[in-house]
Amino acid sequence: MPARDMEGKAAVVCASSRGLGRASARAIALRGAKVAICARRGGDAAEAARAIAEEAGVETWPCAADVSTAEGVRAFIQGAGERFGGIDVLVCNAGGPPAGGFEQFSDADWERAVQLTLMSAVRQVREALPFMKGRGYGRIVFICSSSAREMLDSMVLSNVLRPAVVGLSKSLSRELASERILVNVAAPGTILTDRVMQTRRARAEREGVPVEKLLQEVAEGIPLNRIGDPAEFGALVAFLASPEASYITGTVLLADGGRVRGY
Ligand code: NAD
Repeated sequence: MPARDMEGKAAVVCASSRGLGRASARAIALRGAKVAICARRGGDAAEAARAIAEEAGVETWPCAADVSTAEGVRAFIQGAGERFGGIDVLVCNAGGPPAGGFEQFSDADWERAVQLTLMSAVRQVREALPFMKGRGYGRIVFICSSSAREMLDSMVLSNVLRPAVVGLSKSLSRELASERILVNVAAPGTILTDRVMQTRRARAEREGVPVEKLLQEVAEGIPLNRIGDPAEFGALVAFLASPEASYITGTVLLADGGRVRGY
């Protein structure tokens, strides 16, 4: 069990009813922090908030909000900031852009991806900062992708926009250092969430092969020879959000089982 070293802290985790966001919210709550949770459907956010509160014994606050829109981000983050009387930890997250190569995407597709992946991160930070400044403690963690470090085939939108989020994180780490707000990127390789299962199932159906075979192929490309568990990624985010990470800012930390070859 992790230390309860975040008691009294307030965390806001975006896009967190399932997958990496939920695993991050859970891991932060297990360290003792209050956690605000959002999803587009209020019922999904409420279910996650209930389960995490029960397991971790902390206050949680669910909210129905679409983080790909300015209004959704504002409603969630202002609501959480007012409810908790400030924000110590912001975990920036949203659904990922679709897979595909350059010739598949129109201007409208690019615009949607920019809103979802880049502008949602910009807005999440902008809305949270007034609630974070002046507290003497702050952590911003961007949930990104290993494509921030090494491009992925047939993922052009991610390959272009994830490095932009790293640039945002690096800039913020310098601008916010005097406020003692530390800013980092947590970059997943392949972690077994609903999103990963959905994309593999769709490919398995297209190619007429069992989904287990595709998952095994992915695992074989990873030095640790397995796909990651969401809890393993959540532990990284919670560490970066915790007092333990007090001298870490402006970095990208991978949880990828050793797959990325770059340093
Ligand atoms: P997921 O689909 O399992 O979960 C996404 C969560 O975000 C859900 O709770 C969903 O309700 C919520 N959500 C999605 N869009 C939202 C919106 N517009 N507003 C509010 N909530 C929204 O996905 P995941 O695997 O957890 O992925 C999270 C992020 O990490 C994505 O950007 C994804 O591209 C990225 N990522 C994941 C992996 C992986 O292996 N899982 C790898 C690289 C990058």
